Amino acid sequence: MFCKIAGGQIPARKVHEDDEILAFHDINPARPVHLLVIPRRHITSLATATEADVPVLGRMLAIANRLASEQGSPDGFRVIINTGRIGHQEVQHLHAHIVGGPEPVGPMLKRI
Ligand code: 5GP
Repeated sequence: MFCKIAGGQIPARKVHEDDEILAFHDINPARPVHLLVIPRRHITSLATATEADVPVLGRMLAIANRLASEQGSPDGFRVIINTGRIGHQEVQHLHAHIVGGPEPVGPMLKRI
């Protein structure tokens, strides 16, 4: 599905695009700022990423601060990459969530 967003077949509210990376607003935001950053080239998840993916993964993290600041989270943010069944990954195209806003996002996980 995110390949279709990358290819332009499905619309998205884009905040960044270049030849390797796309970033857009999550359709169902969990916080006032909730962006998704994806590699254009299909990588299913961190479970299948390889050494060849290191540059694009690095760039996805390196643009996170600028995107968060521009979109309303200038004092920090959280990056989440859900992976596989245990990580509760719903979309099988690697994506980094950038979440934030004017208030702290809260504890990282609900403790069990
Ligand atoms: P996951 O659980 O896989 O880490 O998160 C998938 C995220 O993708 C969810 O937060 C969901 O709201 C978002 N999402 C699913 N489909 C679409 C879509 O078509 N467009 C956008 N912008 N976000 C989507």
